[in-house]
Amino acid sequence: MFRCALCKERIKDISTVGIQCENCGSRVFYKERPNVKKELKAR
Ligand SMILES: [Zn+2]
Repeated sequence: MFRCALCKERIKDISTVGIQCENCGSRVFYKERPNVKKELKAR
C-alpha cells in the first residue's frame, strides 16, 4: 500500500507505471507499513 506524501491519500492502483495521486496530482509517495509503531526500550 502506498500513500501520497502530500495529502496522505491512499493510492490503490500502483500497477500503473506513471502513478499519480488522484487527489492532488503529486507523484511523491511513501510505503505504508501496517505496524509503524515500534517502541525501543533503552534498558
Ligand atoms: Zn496527494
